[in-house]
Amino acid sequence: MNAQMMQMPLLVSSIMTHAARYHGDTEIVSQTVEGAVHRYTYAEASRRTQALANVLARLDIGPGDRVGTLAWNGFRHLELYYAVSGIGAVVHTLNPRLFSEQIAWIVNHARDTVVFFDLSFLSLVEAVAPQCPSVRHWIVMTDKAHMPADSSGKFLCYEDLMSAEPQHYDWPDLPETMASGLCYTSGTTGNPKGVLYSHRSTVLHALACIQPDVMNLSARDVVLPAVPMFHVNAWGLPYSALMVGAKLVLPGPNLDGASLHRLCDDEGVTLSAGVPTVWLGFRQHLQKIQSKPSTLKRVLVGGSACPPSLMQAFDDEYGVSILHLWGMTELSPVGTVNTLKLKHQDLPDAQRHDLLAKQGRPPFGIELKIVNDAGESLPTDGQAAGDLLVRGHWVLDRYYESDHSPLREGWFPTGDVANIDADGYLLITDRSKDIIKSGGEWISSIELENIAMSHPAIAEAAAIGVRHPKWDERPLIVAVKKPGADATREDILAHYAGKIAKWSVPDDVVFVDELPHTATGKLSKLQLRQKLSEYRLP
Ligand code: ADP
Repeated sequence: MNAQMMQMPLLVSSIMTHAARYHGDTEIVSQTVEGAVHRYTYAEASRRTQALANVLARLDIGPGDRVGTLAWNGFRHLELYYAVSGIGAVVHTLNPRLFSEQIAWIVNHARDTVVFFDLSFLSLVEAVAPQCPSVRHWIVMTDKAHMPADSSGKFLCYEDLMSAEPQHYDWPDLPETMASGLCYTSGTTGNPKGVLYSHRSTVLHALACIQPDVMNLSARDVVLPAVPMFHVNAWGLPYSALMVGAKLVLPGPNLDGASLHRLCDDEGVTLSAGVPTVWLGFRQHLQKIQSKPSTLKRVLVGGSACPPSLMQAFDDEYGVSILHLWGMTELSPVGTVNTLKLKHQDLPDAQRHDLLAKQGRPPFGIELKIVNDAGESLPTDGQAAGDLLVRGHWVLDRYYESDHSPLREGWFPTGDVANIDADGYLLITDRSKDIIKSGGEWISSIELENIAMSHPAIAEAAAIGVRHPKWDERPLIVAVKKPGADATREDILAHYAGKIAKWSVPDDVVFVDELPHTATGKLSKLQLRQKLSEYRLP
């Protein structure tokens, strides 16, 4: 028997319509690349998004077309998110931190028809454009006054196009399974792979994220995504913040500690999100100027493992809770977030901290399991570690333009190794390719890094396996000292005593000025291994 309820497709455009209708006077504040701070309301954003839809139609962009963006977090990028998906086209966020050849490869693979870009990427676009025959227009996201001098004929101007269009557009009723966004994984293994999100997956992901036990977002929050909108849609915040009518603060290109601190305090930010490196920088700045954030309450940290020492410092020194998040491009990206259950409220401090250091548990809509090499499910006892598989409403089914299904009996293999406890809390021990295999035993590089970073002299640390004639691999720590701090190799090695089994204590420590990072701000172990190819254990 069929139900008799309304059938309304889950559409991205409906989020903007809701924000404008019920939170019309809520502000969106953007640090622009031109220098000024821009402010407007959801009502104005909605009107301009409709004008932008008319611009897209005028440029002959229609359903299914891929529209590239090379842009920081700002109001025009937000307008593109909604206008492009709203007309049935696909917003394709490109990561400007990649090399120009990689960007050209991705644009060509996606066959983007137009690319919108921030002024700061002008020279990047000059390098990429000649290699991208599918792109009909390159559009600078700025006004006439800031257009580059010699650009006539080469580039179109965003505000020029906008000024010619009416601020009214009737969003079409689209099938909710239609593609709305495209994002490529950074391709740490082989060529980048495209993940094509649907309206349905995007809306369901955003709905899941606002829940109390996930991001706990509300109309009383001021949200600053310090994760770029080109890094898996800023973890969905440009959708979920509008859904609840939170004030949105978009930091533009400035993700350094001083800029983030200033913006947080000036705008009354309550919740932010970003990779651990951003928050390590934030803390270093606050330590230097001996200050605290005044309104910040919660920070979502993910993309790579958050060092427990950072969590503890935010809690003790600023009263800010770090919520550990695990996700992947293939998961839109949120898979788990760490919040406690009722029975955990009264845990002794040390146990509570240990629990909160894990990557958290899945919201409704995501299922996790761990399996052994034979594909058999392993117990969820918080001990057994295996390959992590996932399925759910916002998990990839297959990669863009690929005929081959990556799924294993309906589950997506994440490439992560993890354990899961009886309450569903996930602990990622490693990426399978980063695990250190010593004498038939596995050593978690994340665990070694967390211990190194709990030493007061260490700012950042990476653990990698180095070839060893007897044990196959042995762990090496590569560490950056905090400015002005001093520590020897022996001090760091002594710091491991009593914290882990003796055989998993690293063999050596190498100090460097800087560690290499990927385009999404994660430690690049690939580059680190290349850099240390000549290194020999003592
Ligand atoms: P890429 O694979 O291109 O780096 P993603 O941003 O999708 O792109 O990376 C997803 C991976 O990042 C996960 O599979 C996992 O290895 C790692 N990761 C994400 N969040 C965490 C976390 N909180 N702790 C440990 N690893 C994490």
